[in-house]
Amino acid sequence: MNHAGVIQDDSQKKKFSVYSIHCFPKVSIVDPKLQSFLPWYQQVNGFVDAFMHVCESLTRIEDIDEVETTYAINISLLQSIIKAGNKLQVNTNDHVARANFVWAASCALNQLSGIAMRGGCAAVHYLEYPMAGIDPKISHGAGLGVAFPAFVRANGERGLRLKTYNRIAKEVFGREGWQGLVEGFQTLLKKWGHPTTLNELFGRNMDEKDRAQLLEIFKLRPRCGYYADGRLPEEIAKDAYTYM
Ligand SMILES: [Zn+2]
Repeated sequence: MNHAGVIQDDSQKKKFSVYSIHCFPKVSIVDPKLQSFLPWYQQVNGFVDAFMHVCESLTRIEDIDEVETTYAINISLLQSIIKAGNKLQVNTNDHVARANFVWAASCALNQLSGIAMRGGCAAVHYLEYPMAGIDPKISHGAGLGVAFPAFVRANGERGLRLKTYNRIAKEVFGREGWQGLVEGFQTLLKKWGHPTTLNELFGRNMDEKDRAQLLEIFKLRPRCGYYADGRLPEEIAKDAYTYM
């Protein structure tokens, strides 16, 4: 669907993303019917990944009023993903909900959500890659769901992206501030039965050493996510791994 892929280096336990305009598929066929046979956990991984691709576009921009049209499209995508996910939780064979979800996910990943968003922000994806690097059983969507609230908190406490976080919190979750965004998102994950902490994600106690290892792998990538516009992203990552 998009122009990106991931390559894993097992020796470094590191996943690297690759991008090229030549990697866009000429045709993509997404059949909603096939997804209804997937386990619920795997379905939620898809909801969360699509949600996060939209959020990473939205939170790249400091002044969201500058990008009102794409912002409004993206908020609608997030609302559709939640609405479809809630319906599918009740009835996995709800074809209309499934079809709406795959269309929203397509728009989330095919770069529509990133128009005018300066390429979006891949920082939450970079925080997730080391998780699956140290344990291949960790699914991408579940890792993103754990990483995002911690990343929002690490930024929110520094006064970064407050206007953006507040608007997403209000318009998607009916709450306020970066705290409202974190609470709204984690309440949704819990409703869908997904992990919200590293301990839940890995199924064991993730102590300081484990979290330090995640940070070390994160730092292997020279550019650790351009979310923070040069404001010491490694420190933000360190805090984020502590908060998860
Ligand atoms: Zn992803």
